Amino acid sequence: MPHETPLIALLAGGLVAAFLLGALAHRFKLSPLVGYLVAGMLVGPYTPGFVADASMASELAEIGVVLLMFGVGLHFSIDDLRAVRKIAFPYALAPIAFATLLGWGLGHGVLGWTNWQGVVYGLALSVASTVVLLKALEENRLVDSERGKSAIGWLIVEDIIVILVLVLLPVLSRSLGKGEGEFDLGAVIKSLLFTLGKLAVFITVIVVVGRRLIPALLRRVAGTGSRELFTLGVLAIALGMAFGAAELFGVSIALGAFFAGMLLNESELSHKAAADSLPMRDAFSVLFFVSIGMLFNPNIVVEQPLLVLATFFIITIGKPAAAFLILKLANRSNTTAFTIAASISQIGEFSFILAGLAVGLKILPPEARDLVLAAALLSIIANPLAFKLLTNWQRREKVAQAADKSASKSVVEENDEDTGPALPQTGHTLLVGYGRVGRQLAELLRERNVPLSVIDNDPDLVQQARNDGLAATRGNAASANRMAELFPEAATHALVAIPNAFEAGEIIARLRKSNPAMIILARAHSDAESRHLISQGADGAVLAERELAYSMAEMVLAAPKQ
Ligand code: AMP
Repeated sequence: MPHETPLIALLAGGLVAAFLLGALAHRFKLSPLVGYLVAGMLVGPYTPGFVADASMASELAEIGVVLLMFGVGLHFSIDDLRAVRKIAFPYALAPIAFATLLGWGLGHGVLGWTNWQGVVYGLALSVASTVVLLKALEENRLVDSERGKSAIGWLIVEDIIVILVLVLLPVLSRSLGKGEGEFDLGAVIKSLLFTLGKLAVFITVIVVVGRRLIPALLRRVAGTGSRELFTLGVLAIALGMAFGAAELFGVSIALGAFFAGMLLNESELSHKAAADSLPMRDAFSVLFFVSIGMLFNPNIVVEQPLLVLATFFIITIGKPAAAFLILKLANRSNTTAFTIAASISQIGEFSFILAGLAVGLKILPPEARDLVLAAALLSIIANPLAFKLLTNWQRREKVAQAADKSASKSVVEENDEDTGPALPQTGHTLLVGYGRVGRQLAELLRERNVPLSVIDNDPDLVQQARNDGLAATRGNAASANRMAELFPEAATHALVAIPNAFEAGEIIARLRKSNPAMIILARAHSDAESRHLISQGADGAVLAERELAYSMAEMVLAAPKQ
């Protein structure tokens, strides 16, 4: 029997379960998302044992959606949005229409629902989840690529359509409640125009006022020198704008957060803001997946397996196929078309909200919500597979292209569009981190013609390395796959120039394992760190602060005061 649990129990239970199962999923080479979803099922009301409060979980998950969308906005500028509009705006509508048609076919044709119910069911299947998409783009390092941005833009168009549907649904249901003959078209059109008007006012206010106000405000806060105030400022802007947008303009919370992030992107402070909101963002986005898992009632899969499967195929095959076709008809590249298709082959938060509202308004039977949830869960689990297929396809394409121009033997990165110089495969020096230390090191070594391979997890720094003429890749060096791309087994040296000694230790241990002969040097900030790095296999660790002191002392001694 489910009972009320306090918030802290939900946070602790949900996050501990998500951590354990996320780690387990990683161990089995599955996406950690699967682990989070299963963790949600375990702490949810449909499995025995600990039961957390599902409604509270979905409220917390909303914070996750806000922070995530805020983060996406930080990577987007107003110019990006204009560029994306070209690819997303007219085309995103067709797959939505097609998925709605298929959903209607299933609801009306197979289940005997009314036309209207079928259409609402189809609409619930036609909006992809931004949260799931972002995780996928992040894992595949596509967030900053052109097609990654197109996929995000595509989902923003979908978001706007869902907002309209969510606003219109109650009006429509009232009109239809009066009986088919008395359908009040006037009321529907009025509320549609009203919503569009509010959206336009919202965007104008944001662009005109927010563009000046927010960066100025943050600059002021940064000037106070208080980190705490700055982080708080960022959070206040993200949550405040998101919530304000939802309350005042009827815009979705996620869309409000996206615009808040986008405005910050216009100023030089965006980086700091992004970094400051990161840890919270990750924790809350995990809660989003946990909360979906909690809502899931596994019985539906046993009772209605065929319906679940049919719904699943509409999401994973029907809609992506329509998107692919329309993009091909519009003369877009296969890569873009495949990326968008893979990106939208899942559904999530918006579908739950829409299905929940429709069930609340008694438009859809509760069974429809269970079907949407089950198919959504399966589509989220299957989504990494879609991206895997995309990567494999790209790899084959690259090989085919390389065979065409067999002159070049270089290995080209698969996922970034602007790949820069090819990564050297043998006799090179690995440079982990292109921050303050890494950049200096690179400059000194390059002057002496040492072949370098750079890895950094900050996309801007990777771009900078490429602009500096270096071979560079983006990723966390602590990930085995990322590191393997740099051919550590054939490198002569590795320079680990990152500040976190725990991470550096793991990286060093892995490097040492793959290449016992390589010389590994690391950066440390205390004697304890330096001992740790050496125990993990480093040949030497340079204590940054001590070197600094030596240099300063040398300067004093070299130029004694007269
Ligand atoms: P700095 O402290 O200014 O030398 O910057 C350190 C750099 O290392 C930053 O640019 C980080 O993005 C990068 N970095 C830190 N940890 C990792 C990691 N595990 N993998 C790749 N790059 C990292």
